[in-house]
Amino acid sequence: MTKSRAAVVPSPSEPLVVEEYEIPELVSGAALMRVANAGVCGTDVHLWHGKLSGVPYPLIPGHEVVGTIEDVGPSPIRDLDGNLIKVGDRVTFHDVTKTCYSCWYCLIAKAPTKCPNREVYGITRDSTKWPHLIGGYAEYLYLTPGTHIIKIPDHVSFDGASAVGCAMPTAIHTVMRSPLGWGKNVAIQGAGPVGLMLAILAKVNGASTITSIDQAPNRLKIAQEFGATHTLNIRDTSLAERKDILKDIAGGHGPDIVYEATGSALAIPEGIELVREGGTYTICGQYTDSGPVEINPHLMNRKHLDIRTVWGSETTHVYQAIKTIADNYDRFPFEKLVTHRFSLDDAQKALETQEKQLSVKAVISPHGKE
Ligand SMILES: [Zn+2]
Ligand SMILES: [Zn+2]
Repeated sequence: MTKSRAAVVPSPSEPLVVEEYEIPELVSGAALMRVANAGVCGTDVHLWHGKLSGVPYPLIPGHEVVGTIEDVGPSPIRDLDGNLIKVGDRVTFHDVTKTCYSCWYCLIAKAPTKCPNREVYGITRDSTKWPHLIGGYAEYLYLTPGTHIIKIPDHVSFDGASAVGCAMPTAIHTVMRSPLGWGKNVAIQGAGPVGLMLAILAKVNGASTITSIDQAPNRLKIAQEFGATHTLNIRDTSLAERKDILKDIAGGHGPDIVYEATGSALAIPEGIELVREGGTYTICGQYTDSGPVEINPHLMNRKHLDIRTVWGSETTHVYQAIKTIADNYDRFPFEKLVTHRFSLDDAQKALETQEKQLSVKAVISPHGKE
């Protein structure tokens, strides 16, 4: 095998095309991955529409990738635990390469997700330059030297690992920015992939109550299988009713922590209303710009709130995400989250399915289900 097919976004909002690339020779420290699944992420839809800055087109999307090591370059490579990586290993990797750990943001501000030197597979890496195969919507992906590779434990299937995509690392980073612990009353705005992962993390951290809030009944039903003790549909209730219900659930005070994972700007003023006095509001769902919204700062001040946001994820969050799935594989039906599977030729359809929110998690499996 010397060539690999890949689905390419030629330029923003143009239909995807499948192209064939030569597989470059593996340099020292590199490896070739046979892609089993590339997760179709909400971010991919935004990339398709050209909504993120600093993205080179033509682009091979796909930053949530699981697969098998097909070949290793001339020198040995190791995973994050220091184990040798061999041909046939089932792996995933942190989509961010080249966090520099030497700039002001990395060293002084200790905010490496704001490092200006970061490059991300399937988002900011340029497919017109060597090694070309830098996105997951392809039969093979070239793992460049320095990529942080993580082995997938034997009992976790490719679908199980794909189910969490970049949602679990984001959720882990988010809970680490909040005082989550046992006995807390938690409410989660949004029951998409990130909201579901937040519910899992609240559960495994011993939260007392976990209320998922969404408008899609199917998503709320799934949330109950992923840790939610209560659900609230925003279509069936008014904001005043939701406040009252959440107060009742949480001993008359309301949730100690509200997590926002919606992607809707309107969720923010509501979250400030829902969280209890002296509580914490942690926002991670505003990754793309959905515009301004009116809020009342007095309410934030009067309620004595801790409000934090989170941007991106670090390698440690990806590492912990794989551990979390592996440790809780019997407890939550991760594989069930993969609701749609597409071939490379149907990558366009995959993006449309994700855009219409018909899927919980869609994947592109260039070689069929593995
Ligand atoms: Zn840096
Ligand atoms: Zn993603």
